[in-house]
Amino acid sequence: MSKIVVVGANHAGTAAINTLLDLNKDNQVEVFDRNSNISFLGCGMALWIGHQISGPEGLFYATKEGLEKKGAKINMETEVEKIDFKNKKIYAKNKNGESIETDYDKLILATGSLPIVPNVKGTDLENVQLVKLYQNAQEVIEKLNKDEIKHVTVVGAGYIGVELAEAFKRNGKEVALIDVAPTSLSSYYDYEFTKLMDENLKNHGIDLHFEEKLVEIQGDGKVDKVITDKSEIPTDMVVLCIGFRPNNTLGKDDLELFRNGAFLVNKKQETSIKDVYAIGDCATVYDNAIDGPNYIALATNAVRSGIIAGYNASGVELESVGVQGSNGINIFDFKMVSTGLSLTKAKSLGFDALATDYEDLQKPEFITENNEKVKIRIVYDKDSRRVLGAQMASKYDVSMGIHFFSLAIQEKVTIDKLKLTDIFFLPHFNKPYNYITMAALNAK
Ligand SMILES: Cc1cc2nc3c(=O)[nH]c(=O)nc-3n(C[C@H](O)[C@H](O)[C@H](O)COP(=O)(O)OP(=O)(O)OC[C@H]3O[C@@H](n4cnc5c(N)ncnc54)[C@H](O)[C@@H]3O)c2cc1C
Repeated sequence: MSKIVVVGANHAGTAAINTLLDLNKDNQVEVFDRNSNISFLGCGMALWIGHQISGPEGLFYATKEGLEKKGAKINMETEVEKIDFKNKKIYAKNKNGESIETDYDKLILATGSLPIVPNVKGTDLENVQLVKLYQNAQEVIEKLNKDEIKHVTVVGAGYIGVELAEAFKRNGKEVALIDVAPTSLSSYYDYEFTKLMDENLKNHGIDLHFEEKLVEIQGDGKVDKVITDKSEIPTDMVVLCIGFRPNNTLGKDDLELFRNGAFLVNKKQETSIKDVYAIGDCATVYDNAIDGPNYIALATNAVRSGIIAGYNASGVELESVGVQGSNGINIFDFKMVSTGLSLTKAKSLGFDALATDYEDLQKPEFITENNEKVKIRIVYDKDSRRVLGAQMASKYDVSMGIHFFSLAIQEKVTIDKLKLTDIFFLPHFNKPYNYITMAALNAK
């Protein structure tokens, strides 16, 4: 019987705990989490804030009691303060200040990520908000309900910032969105796509401040102004969404790290120390688009890596097939999905990359209802012809299509193989000369 300790019980941790308990009833599993809740889907935070769902209850899918029933020992509101990797010992403190010491045979680190706070004056003012935990969302909602919050400034136009900008607008607030990049979503999409999202945001009344750097947040106790290198924005609340960094505190002096500080793991989620695994946002993923380790903090990656560590820590070998960073966003009903590398990103990484674009209706012209334009771009390597990425945008739900390209990148499929891939046709769904076939056929 192995004693396996899991530190962190959000998405990655919960997936690992469930796998450990499902695979081998003899596994002795002890869990530590400093928070008071398990499995909060931050992904639903904007929907909750924007009143698109009735409340937060459905945003949890696991509980302490549920995991205990399966056989785990769960220490909530208990922070692990130190790990002695040499002697396999954990030192923690619970909310009553009591110290807990335990040992392990195997250890799974699932300590996640922390929001990045910019190094500018004023981040400690009242109404400067972070968005990560359930408690953060609760606080933001409480404040939004006050009349004094009329204008919200979102700093960072990645997918979380853009989703929250929509949510604040849905609350009837004036919203400014700031980013140093020239567009929203610049890490995931090329300009031809981001400009569509930016138009969408602008058309819904969001005040865009791109190519502007946050310089200072001002106020007398409470926020009343945001200063960028180009403008001054009077505001009542500032929401910082500039990204996340891996929470590596417990292992940064002992484990091998990736360039951003994430625990470097192999395809079995093993770290540089035997019997220590790292999963989710605190660890690297194997990125098939660049054929190497990368940092892509997503709940989907967290869950998959938790399952893999659960298997390997139980003695059943399982390797990751790698990831492509597939993602999607839906803002005021305009949807964009992407996987792998954008053309800009591919070029910046040194690929001799090309893109093939196509735009068409989803269904034949004679279908007059629920038939929207779809824009697609497939990015591929000029020499090897390997598919490197894909982007799609539409008011229609084209999200399932992107998985096709995710698998293509994973399996190193060439753009030429996509030209005559069997894609069915039924007018209710698509066209015989559909946009995937047409984009691939048009590839140089
Ligand atoms: C607003 C928002 C929207 C998002 N939307 C999406 C989306 O649409 N799709 C998607 O795929 N991803 C999305 N994500 C990202 C996703 O939430 C993360 O990738 C995911 O939470 C990572 O899970 P994790 O378990 O690795 O880490 P975390 O969720 O960060 O959990 C880490 C856990 O470790 C605990 N912990 C840390 N240190 C200690 C310690 N020393 N002792 C004890 N416990 C500790 C923490 O309390 C926490 O419970 C979103 C994130 C946010 C914030």
